[in-house]
Amino acid sequence: MDALKEHTIAFAGLKDGTHTFQFQLGRPFFDAAGEEEMQGGDVAVEVTMDKNPTLLVVEITAKGTLDLLCDHCNAPLAFAVEGNQTQVFRLTGEEKYDDGELVSLEAGAHSVNLTHYIYECLRLALPIRHVHPPGECDPEVVKAYERLRVQHEPTPDPRWGVLDQLKNQQP
Ligand SMILES: [Zn+2]
Repeated sequence: MDALKEHTIAFAGLKDGTHTFQFQLGRPFFDAAGEEEMQGGDVAVEVTMDKNPTLLVVEITAKGTLDLLCDHCNAPLAFAVEGNQTQVFRLTGEEKYDDGELVSLEAGAHSVNLTHYIYECLRLALPIRHVHPPGECDPEVVKAYERLRVQHEPTPDPRWGVLDQLKNQQP
């Protein structure tokens, strides 16, 4: 997704040590994500950045609700989500590489943008299947499922009927 300016951290001006940043994800974030699944949400993000001369160790914690559609009834669902991810940036700027959790920044880089990593943190926190708590699905859809189930109820196997008859014929 596109980087959002507010998630850029100018680390060059920071002292070595731990720094904390707070972000609130709302409409601009979810619009930028342009995703069908996460249609919106309200998520608080806390970023802890531990800076030393060669590394930035960034811990992202996200907590809030995502606006999804229920996988069972397709009605809107405010899904509580909580995620945590660690990302390490190397500042030596030798080789350019991206090894998932360890990413090298270009030599002379003075800021890093975290939008992509915050998005990744949310994606990883989201289970594949998300549904309403029991009894909270759209009642119309639940009724439709019930009707389908009744229609597809298997009719009793005729062979059992024959067996029953045989049994009944026993003296
Ligand atoms: Zn549902």
